[in-house]
Amino acid sequence: MKDYIAVDEWKIIEEGFNPHHNKISESIFSLGNGRMGQRANFEEAYSGETLQGNYVAGVYYPDKTRVGWWKNGYPEYFAKVLNAANWIGIDINIDGETLDLAKCEVLQFRRELNMQAGYLKRNFTAKTAGGKIVEVEATRFCSMADDEAGAIKYTITPKNFSGHLTITPFIDGDVINKDSNYDEKFWDEIKKESWNDGGFIQLRTKKTGFEVATGMLIRVFQGDEAVKLNTQAVTKEKYIAAKFKLQATEGQSISIIKYAANLSSQNYAAADLPAKLKETLALTSNKGFDTMLAEQAEAWAGKWKMNDIIIEGDASAQQAIRFNIFQLNQTYTGEDDRLNIGPKGFTGEKYGGSTYWDTEAYCVPFYLSTADQKVTKNLLLYRYKQLGKAIDNAKLLGFTNGAALYPMVTMDGTECHNEWEITFEEIHRNGAIAYAIFNYVRYTADEAYLVDYGLEVLIAIARFWSQRVNWSGERQQYVMLGVTGPNEYENNVNNNWYTSTLATWCMKYTTEVVEKVKAAEPEKYAALVGKISFNEEEETARFADIIAKMYYAYDEKQQVFLQQDGYLDKEQILVKDLPAVDRPINQKWSWDRILRSCYIKQADVLQGIYFFEGDYDLETIRRNFDFYEPRTVHESSLSPCVHAILAAKLGDEARAYEFYLRTARLDLDDYNNDTEDGCHITSMAGTWMAVVEGFGGMRVKDGKLSFQPFLPGKWKSFSFHIGFRGAVLNVKVSKEGVQIKNLSGSATTVLIHDKEQVVKANDELLVEA
Ligand code: BGC
Repeated sequence: MKDYIAVDEWKIIEEGFNPHHNKISESIFSLGNGRMGQRANFEEAYSGETLQGNYVAGVYYPDKTRVGWWKNGYPEYFAKVLNAANWIGIDINIDGETLDLAKCEVLQFRRELNMQAGYLKRNFTAKTAGGKIVEVEATRFCSMADDEAGAIKYTITPKNFSGHLTITPFIDGDVINKDSNYDEKFWDEIKKESWNDGGFIQLRTKKTGFEVATGMLIRVFQGDEAVKLNTQAVTKEKYIAAKFKLQATEGQSISIIKYAANLSSQNYAAADLPAKLKETLALTSNKGFDTMLAEQAEAWAGKWKMNDIIIEGDASAQQAIRFNIFQLNQTYTGEDDRLNIGPKGFTGEKYGGSTYWDTEAYCVPFYLSTADQKVTKNLLLYRYKQLGKAIDNAKLLGFTNGAALYPMVTMDGTECHNEWEITFEEIHRNGAIAYAIFNYVRYTADEAYLVDYGLEVLIAIARFWSQRVNWSGERQQYVMLGVTGPNEYENNVNNNWYTSTLATWCMKYTTEVVEKVKAAEPEKYAALVGKISFNEEEETARFADIIAKMYYAYDEKQQVFLQQDGYLDKEQILVKDLPAVDRPINQKWSWDRILRSCYIKQADVLQGIYFFEGDYDLETIRRNFDFYEPRTVHESSLSPCVHAILAAKLGDEARAYEFYLRTARLDLDDYNNDTEDGCHITSMAGTWMAVVEGFGGMRVKDGKLSFQPFLPGKWKSFSFHIGFRGAVLNVKVSKEGVQIKNLSGSATTVLIHDKEQVVKANDELLVEA
């Protein structure tokens, strides 16, 4: 755990330069606009520890996987988001010395991520080995208004000398992925051009053939005067630069404004990329840096209006929740149904930038409540469009009749994961995809989605489950063998309670939706039946039989759902009795030891109770929580939020708050010692859930929003906005009680502590504490 980020309600601030924190800060201070993003690398050269990262959404490379023991059904490759061309680079040379903070004495340094207005600002004063002191201020952002563009203003002021500065703004596509399996480079150059004030390179990914044009246009000012540029083009393979030399005067600043753009062949014909790129650069440079920055602030103000959570009385918690919300918005804006939310977003390479069940299980609730419903719909459509590949994937594993198994990890619908215990066994992800459809429809009442897309996916998923179970003659029940639940510290177990529960729920829900769609849209239903050869009678009868005769692991003595058969054979030493030196166990113990232990990586049974809370009484929830929580090590960032929500549900406010803190400042405080690889973007949605569903107690009940809020002890109040079926509500929880403002033009009914309250249009009400 680290503690070097200064607390501020709207900013993330690092004061002083500590090279050991640099990679962590590069993750934390990352920028993105849904279309592209980057780590907070420096503009000028840096020879110290760094992980260079620039990413273009949806552009990936099929890296060959490394497996010694190939198994049928393994994927050929692991798609990974690519480190793309660096567009921020500006080399500075001071009378023959390269400005490089690893080689200078850093007299002052401050990095600041302004979350309110969406930009990164860094300033420092550095003394070169030759004794020259310069002051630098660099501001940059990935534009939300022009999402293929970014801009930088880099101002350098000589403090104790007049001399020559050689300045080299560049675009460098000769980059590598740190996690590439064979040290391959993934880009080939297609084209490049240099102009006096800029240039571009066009690169193509090997194998996948994506083309990306990355270009820059520069403007330079000395004091307030625009400098007439006379640059020297520098070109190398996959690299262009516009180098120029200026006579710098002590105390007078030189500002380089670099307009940059990144355009991809996903959105334009590859041949049109140069022309489109030039148009974008002309558009942004004509606007100018200040206008772009003002538009950026405006775009973010628009986002914050709906997304912000305001916490009074706890600046650290305020900063943390805003950081989580900020990063989520930087990662995914929901405008493109080909894109999704990688667990690290644009902040690092780990997890390949691919799609996991994290999206459906953790991110959907955030986007449902804080964005237009089309955003979540696009996330669902992403999977709908990949249904064919999910069916192929299931076929590869021996399933038939249009059964679908969605991949554990994917970019384009193809499975990328190749550990058998996960690829073939962590099949609960299939259920999360069905659950997200249910969640979306429950929230939005968009039943047309079921007719047009949802039912087709549900049937394919239900078909998978109906084949994945088998009849146990011994038990005279259906069983689910050889699975891995969300708790990846158990592999190849039988009858994981969560997976079995989710499987039968999928079949139940699918059957209900069949009835619904058949009644509402008989013609469309008939068309679907034909399209997928759905034998309704036979198939739903099989679903019903499995639902009726499914075996669920259960311990009669303690009256808890058993994570899996045999779980109680494990030595039951609680986490509190585990010596601190043994933790985290995934870094300290062998895999064998982990697998034989009772320790739970992340919510598993409790994940099921969270999903299907309405099916269990409070005592059942309590018994299971009290049993599983003490055995959970929370070594996945996705874990504490579910525990926070359940603790809140059980009225255990102190622990709900404790779990919340673990998720909220996970990256800011580098809790798991891994932030340098990137931020935990998908679990940030879990942090939002911990506030809104945990402290706010928000649920959807019979088509209405219901709140059971409580105020964490340290806080004076907290408030958030929720969009629900056309209404926009502001919910504020304080010592006075719960205040609901209806910011929309029609009345809405909510439940507060289970009592119906009508909030008139543009009105508010207070339910006193
Ligand atoms: C978790 C998975 C998750 C993945 C990506 C793993 O550590 O166990 O549940 O999908 O990370 O976030």
